[in-house]
Amino acid sequence: MKQLEPLIFELSASGRRAYSLPEVDVPTKPLDQLVPAGELRSTPAELPEVSEIDLVRHFTRLSQLNHGVDIGFYPLGSCTMKYNPKINETVAGLHGFTAPHPYLPDSMVQGSLQLIYEIEKYLCEIGGMSRLTLQPAAGAHGEFTGLLIIKAYHRSRGEKRTKVIIPDSAHGTNPATAVMCGMTTVEVKSDERGGVDVDALRDVMDDSVAALMLTNPNTLGLFDENIHEIAQIVHEQGGLLYYDGANANAMMGYARAGDTGFDVVHFNLHKTFSTPHGGGGPGSGPVGVKESLARFLPSPLVDFDGERYYLNYDMPDSIGRIKLFHGNIGVVIKAYAYIRALGREGLEQVSKDAVLNANYLMRKLAEDYDLPYDRHCKHEFVIHPKRIKEETGVRTLDISKRLLDYGVHPPTNYFPLIVDECLMVEPTETESLETLDFFIQAMKDIAKESYEDPDTVKTAPHNTVVARLDEAGAARRPNVRWKKEE
Ligand SMILES: *Cc1c(COP(=O)(O)O)cnc(C)c1O
Repeated sequence: MKQLEPLIFELSASGRRAYSLPEVDVPTKPLDQLVPAGELRSTPAELPEVSEIDLVRHFTRLSQLNHGVDIGFYPLGSCTMKYNPKINETVAGLHGFTAPHPYLPDSMVQGSLQLIYEIEKYLCEIGGMSRLTLQPAAGAHGEFTGLLIIKAYHRSRGEKRTKVIIPDSAHGTNPATAVMCGMTTVEVKSDERGGVDVDALRDVMDDSVAALMLTNPNTLGLFDENIHEIAQIVHEQGGLLYYDGANANAMMGYARAGDTGFDVVHFNLHKTFSTPHGGGGPGSGPVGVKESLARFLPSPLVDFDGERYYLNYDMPDSIGRIKLFHGNIGVVIKAYAYIRALGREGLEQVSKDAVLNANYLMRKLAEDYDLPYDRHCKHEFVIHPKRIKEETGVRTLDISKRLLDYGVHPPTNYFPLIVDECLMVEPTETESLETLDFFIQAMKDIAKESYEDPDTVKTAPHNTVVARLDEAGAARRPNVRWKKEE
């Protein structure tokens, strides 16, 4: 293992300063005249003392220890880790957006309200919905909002429905959300083509079911061809269909959730629309609904009276607020800039290229790895090293760790749960043919190496700052405190 980056405290040497300013040439007051004597420290704080260049190098090096979309390929399935134009960051940072206090009257923030009003229309158009809230702060929060709306709808009809049907290929947040909303989950199996098993769905569907939650394309990257029949089965028994739109990157301009029978949809702006997922910053999971559910949306919505935009609180059936103000507005502004810049044709092209890239990778990787579902995929696909594991003992985790040595972030591992030892690969539309070919070659090299030198793969990574971590421990018990040695 390489030497870890020293901490800033360990670089410290007494008397060094990371700034250089001219001498003060105006009269100054001594500290004890500025701060009450009782509040002054008796010993100076032990802060790190480093020179400016050491400071710059330290933080620049730290910023390079982690992998990011700006550093290399990041085919993390389900997360849509694509490149997002930097100009959208600039737009979201404009003074007119960032400076206004959220309590300013509507009349003083007409521009922001107009933007909210318009992006609601765009997202409704993309999803085939009637109205939409921007409040939810993430996909999972959108699911929570959507299920609360579905609950409110059933309650308004005097029905108490307690079950949510979820396919076995679903993202983990779907069952978690249902439980958070006080519902019980019913799992429905996938058929041999990777879609919902329609007969199994018929068996579990009854009038105690509030909703079916589905992502389409699903986490196998496969579009469910039976979606119209699925919708009919659920609707016939009075249930609603919830669309987990985190995979919208494959669908823009091609199919709308609303047209395929869904009643409620959430988008992940921080996947599809110009904010990377999991970038450590805020997300946004707007929820759109069909006309019949609009009155239950969180209040307020932004409306236009022909002259001015205003916050409409006149929503007596609303489930209430689920986040302050308009959610994570910075993410919303970036999505607005992205949608406006690309337009309808541009968004369609995004989906087309995302699907093309995924199918290209899938077919090339299938030369050395195994395809559990041999169908055209949408924006992502699932493969597994079935033969490699049987013949060499090399596992998916080993392959992923070895990819780090090639400077590639590994695909999603061991998810969805229904495919043994799987890798879920999502290249996104923003990668060049050269990058895709580089990745294909890396995967081919690793496959070959698994037979010729399996130990190198099983002990990877070898070129990274840290080797194999206790990942659960690092997430649950991180050691982020520095203690000075006496
Ligand atoms: C990412 C994702 C979610 C959850 O979104 P978060 O913003 O991470 O809460 C839900 N469903 C699917 C299919 C996803 O890919």
